[in-house]
Amino acid sequence: LDVPDCVEIPFIEGDGIGPDIWQAAQPVFDTAVQQAYNGQKKIQWLNIPAGAKGFNKTGEWLSDDALEIIEAHRVAIKGPLATPVGSGMRSLNVKIRQHLDLYACIRPVRYFSPIQSPVKHPEHVNITVFRENTEDLYAGIEWASGSFEAQKLLKFMKTELDVDVCATAAIGLKPICPEKSKRLVKKAVAYAVDNGLKSVTLMHKGNIMKYTEGGFRQWGYEAAQEYFGDRVVTEDELFKSHNGILPRGKVLIRDRIADMVFAEVLLRPQEFDVIAAPNLNGDYISDALAAQVGGLGIAPGANVGDRCAVFEATHGTAPDLAGKDAANPCSIILSGAMMLDHMGWNRAADLVRRSVAQTLGGGRATGDLASGMEGCKEVSCSEFGRIICETISRID
Ligand code: NAD
Repeated sequence: LDVPDCVEIPFIEGDGIGPDIWQAAQPVFDTAVQQAYNGQKKIQWLNIPAGAKGFNKTGEWLSDDALEIIEAHRVAIKGPLATPVGSGMRSLNVKIRQHLDLYACIRPVRYFSPIQSPVKHPEHVNITVFRENTEDLYAGIEWASGSFEAQKLLKFMKTELDVDVCATAAIGLKPICPEKSKRLVKKAVAYAVDNGLKSVTLMHKGNIMKYTEGGFRQWGYEAAQEYFGDRVVTEDELFKSHNGILPRGKVLIRDRIADMVFAEVLLRPQEFDVIAAPNLNGDYISDALAAQVGGLGIAPGANVGDRCAVFEATHGTAPDLAGKDAANPCSIILSGAMMLDHMGWNRAADLVRRSVAQTLGGGRATGDLASGMEGCKEVSCSEFGRIICETISRID
């Protein structure tokens, strides 16, 4: 990205714990940028009303104007937005992703010591998930049991396709296409190549869903071959031509059945660098991995397309913690570090990550983590943000 030294970035505070974590995080970004570039670079923040706050101010949960502003700025950051259950309202997050075609959901999962983990060696977990963000069962194409549409489809299936499904079935569609699978895998392999990582694993259930998830697997290999040529090596080639030893500078592209991935990331997480997956698999595996390193409070994420990128904590609005100044702001702080990297402001990003590591390592954490960390002092959300800022100012 060509980013000017003084750049305007839109942000959405979000609902629930959104304001708490945003108010802790924003000074962290400003301090890191100031410190990394001696005041030569600066972010001007542009508040975009959305969610409940947007509704109170403009009468709209997420206006077209808000989407246009984000698109024009090409980079934005947001807190969580609530979707009322059963209200018939479409998820605002899904609307943002679909409208801006943010097709890659990128979730790096990294362990910060000494957070308590349910696994023996959480320090081996350093995995980035690339989840397809626009299709699969998340396309939301489904019809209720007994509905006119479901009945019509069932009849069509029976008479035209000779497929007999229970007459009371609800029906959902799982569209997965070559173009969208390929652009996602292209991004995942590019990330591995750019960061000197060893492997990209295509996670699928193609043994059962041969044309959708099996298609994802096939198109994933094709994309790796088409865009990266001999920079990538398949497992077959690895053993036939390289005695099982990955040549320097190459990336191994391989595939694994989804259920096996869940077992393997627990048993041998060090064997995974990047996982590329269709929407639903990607959703499940990123939360399961986040749990290995301390849970949602520490899990950053980005939704990236070709025109625009929106960085966001992966958790929801945590209504149980809203307004209590008790949420963990690490998720949005680390999402902001991803944003700074995306802008090419890597020195500032690095400062943010190092200060998070030092603060947790020094025994300061919010309630979600503190109780499991021996000798740790529990601090509030705002206090945690202040400590991170002080730590940044001390790092050389
Ligand atoms: P949630 O992520 O809000 O909460 C799940 C659990 O994780 C809760 O116990 C919560 O206290 C805890 N948690 C979450 N973030 C935390 C943090 N930063 N620090 C400490 N603990 C944290 O999930 P939910 O309860 O299923 O969803 C609540 C609302 O959020 C719903 O309206 C849902 O639609 C919305 N949501 C939004 C997004 C998004 O904006 N990207 C994502 C998921 C859910």
